[in-house]
Amino acid sequence: ASFAELGVQPWLVDALSAMAIRKPTEIQRACIPPALKGRTIIGGARTGSGKTAAFAVPILQKLAEDPYGVFAVILTPTRELAFQIADQFDALGKGVNLKLCVTVGGIDMMKQALELARRPHIIIGTPGRLADHIQSSAGAVHLKRVQFLVLDEADRLLTPSFAPDLSVIMDSLPRDRQTMLYTATLTEAIMALQNTEQGEQGKGEP
Ligand code: AMP
Repeated sequence: ASFAELGVQPWLVDALSAMAIRKPTEIQRACIPPALKGRTIIGGARTGSGKTAAFAVPILQKLAEDPYGVFAVILTPTRELAFQIADQFDALGKGVNLKLCVTVGGIDMMKQALELARRPHIIIGTPGRLADHIQSSAGAVHLKRVQFLVLDEADRLLTPSFAPDLSVIMDSLPRDRQTMLYTATLTEAIMALQNTEQGEQGKGEP
């Protein structure tokens, strides 16, 4: 199948093509159609499988349809992954006037806080720094309209060390949202979360 056959709009097919992404990978074939239908996604995928585009494409397509309504939070375990994800969103989102904010440690808190106050469409962050912003800003991080939550490398996120930060973030998000979770391995923590999220799952080989 081509990206167009998966339901991807022509402008986004062109943006993918400009990045030499022409033929969907297995995880993209499995996850893009159900994600576009609003389903919960639990995808088995490692770095290199094309998982970033598997969640970025549905988010950008929805964003293009409703630039004032779609907000996404993407959580990932490391700064490096956060910047890689941001780069892919920037490249794919050239056609839509994308406001992105990367919230990771090691960068000036005040500068990030100003970016967050401008209501970015997409927040990409590590749990610790985003939780810091939520706790220190008294409502200045606007999460009430978040429609997508992505847990990238969820097996590394759903661990005891991240648990307090994750619960701060999850508690600030609306219940009614679409979750997309990508993991290399199915851990017990992921299976427990799976029971609390609704909808069907996308399948892909880990
Ligand atoms: P990821 O697994 O998301 O970290 O992606 C790994 C790399 O594969 C990135 O550099 C992507 O640009 C690239 N990529 C993603 N999807 C495809 C595809 N369908 N065909 C070729 N390259 C891809």
